[in-house]
Amino acid sequence: MLFQELGRRLPLPPTRWLTILLILAVPAVSRADDIFDFHPVGEGVVAAIAKTHRPANGNAAIILLDDGVMVIDSGATPSSARALIAHIKKLTAKPVTYVVNTHFHWDHFWGNQAFLDEWPGVEIVASESARLDMQQLGLGSLQLRRWREEIPRLIETWKASLEKETDSVRREQMRQRIEQWRAALPELKTMRLALPTLTFTRRLIIRQTSRTVEILWLGRGHTAGDVVVYLPKERVIATGDLLAGDTPYVAEVAPTEWVRTLEELEKLDFDYVIPGHGEVMRGKELFALWKEYLRDLMAETAKAYAQGASSDGAKKRVVPWLVGKYASRFAEDFPAAVEGNVERVYGIISGD
Ligand SMILES: [Zn+2]
Repeated sequence: MLFQELGRRLPLPPTRWLTILLILAVPAVSRADDIFDFHPVGEGVVAAIAKTHRPANGNAAIILLDDGVMVIDSGATPSSARALIAHIKKLTAKPVTYVVNTHFHWDHFWGNQAFLDEWPGVEIVASESARLDMQQLGLGSLQLRRWREEIPRLIETWKASLEKETDSVRREQMRQRIEQWRAALPELKTMRLALPTLTFTRRLIIRQTSRTVEILWLGRGHTAGDVVVYLPKERVIATGDLLAGDTPYVAEVAPTEWVRTLEELEKLDFDYVIPGHGEVMRGKELFALWKEYLRDLMAETAKAYAQGASSDGAKKRVVPWLVGKYASRFAEDFPAAVEGNVERVYGIISGD
């Protein structure tokens, strides 16, 4: 998940609004249950589902091992990570021994440092390719520096949009986003980023008495270095953003490659999916929709390019078509997400 996606969340039920308003009224300390909903997904496996888009948090998962704990994705900030740590301590006295980063996007690895502070021996695991991207794009301070500078400016822009907005639900969402980002700014200014310490290219298998954990790179997709974490005995998989509860976000990989990777992923035997965003899913139903959408996105954008359309021209042609066909089958943020996707796919095709 990146910048453009920050506003992407389904409207919340009234009870949830009340919770959020109460949380915002007491901003001092973030508690685990403010940030994540925790759902057991089998024996010793817990999905941490991000509750709000307080700096666009990604989901995480907790897996108990023989003598330690594995965490999949570390949240978007150290305070998100500390919320995970607080919950882990309620579950077990075992230390976290592995933190897996599913890919290089900030909402999945910017919490790493908090785990190192708590358990200095923890191994941070990622694909070699994801580590390279974190180093060049994520860590290289570039992204973080950009955020430190851009967030105050963005908050001003959001405030201006809020003035013009008339829909009360949208207004509340916007107000909430502004407050959450404002509250996150001090943390963005002081946080340190930590890179993976253990990398691999295709698969890393951790065999323990209690369970086997397979960390797999099955091909390029949402990014070049996405990995999934697969528990064959428990029939559970954590997919990061390769398959999630929101709209596919094309970053730098052609959708055709992503479709191939989803096909590989589908071959694995699992019942439950813990996605990088959205709720825990049962079965493989969503795969068909994502593949269909990604194929159409690629084909229609390529057609527009071949017919000589500019990037804007392609957007004008392809976005309404995709929105017409898919908006009702994805989350309500779909139209906004599609525009960025067409633009980036056009960039990949044209080599710009
Ligand atoms: Zn994400």
